[in-house]
Formats: sequence, structure tokens, C-alpha cells
Amino acid sequence: MKQQTIALIAHDGKKPEMVGFVKDHFDILSKAKLIATGTTGSYIRQTGLDVELKLSGPKGGDAQIAALAAEGQIDAILFFRDPLGKHPHEPDIQMLMRVCDVYDVPLGTNPAAAELILKGLCQNKA
Ligand code: PGA
Repeated sequence: MKQQTIALIAHDGKKPEMVGFVKDHFDILSKAKLIATGTTGSYIRQTGLDVELKLSGPKGGDAQIAALAAEGQIDAILFFRDPLGKHPHEPDIQMLMRVCDVYDVPLGTNPAAAELILKGLCQNKA
């Protein structure tokens, strides 16, 4: 079974939650290839996980991850959105979610959904 590629993104208000989630799921995530938007990724690196950093979200990182998803290079995206925040790159966020729907890429926009996606990826591996 090929190594899974998982993209991780968290808006500023959700970065602590993402770091907690990553620590709670360290073992499974350490077996995957991880990609993240710039700032999210730099926080994730502090947990000891290896992660490839893209641009920061507002500078095009979401768009880079969307492009990889469209190319079939991402197995799942865990994107902890902050529904209470305003985001200058809202068009990129919408585009990323649209690409996930176009190409049927699992997209977890909160920790509960992300947990189920990781469980599903584990099962697929068995
Ligand atoms: P960041 O981008 O990880 O660079 O903060 C995330 C986002 O806001 O989409």
C-alpha cells in the first residue's frame, strides 16, 4: 500500500486545536507524507513531525494544496477552518473546497471529521 499524503491547514483561531490534534494522532500521521500551509506547518514541525511546507495560506498556500489535490496527489485534507474569522483569501478557501468536491478528495473541516477520516485511512491500509 502506498504511503498516504495528507494536507494540513488551520486558520489562526484553530492552530492550537490543530497542534493538539496532531499530537493526539502522532503515530498515524508520522506514517503519512504530510504537507501544510506555511504557518500551520511550522507549528506542526514543533511537534517533531516531518512536514513539507507550502506558502502561507493568504499568500497562496491553499491554492497550492488545491492544485495538488486536482492532480490526484493528496489522499485527504484536514482543514480546520475558523467560522468566526474573516479571511482575505476566502476565494482560495472556496476554491480548495470546490476542488475537493470535484475530485472526491476527503476534506475534514473540524477535528471530529478529521478523526473519522484518519480512521478511514487506517482501515484502508489494513
Ligand atoms: P497558514 O495558512 O497556515 O499559513 O496560516 C492557513 C490559512 O489561513 O489558510
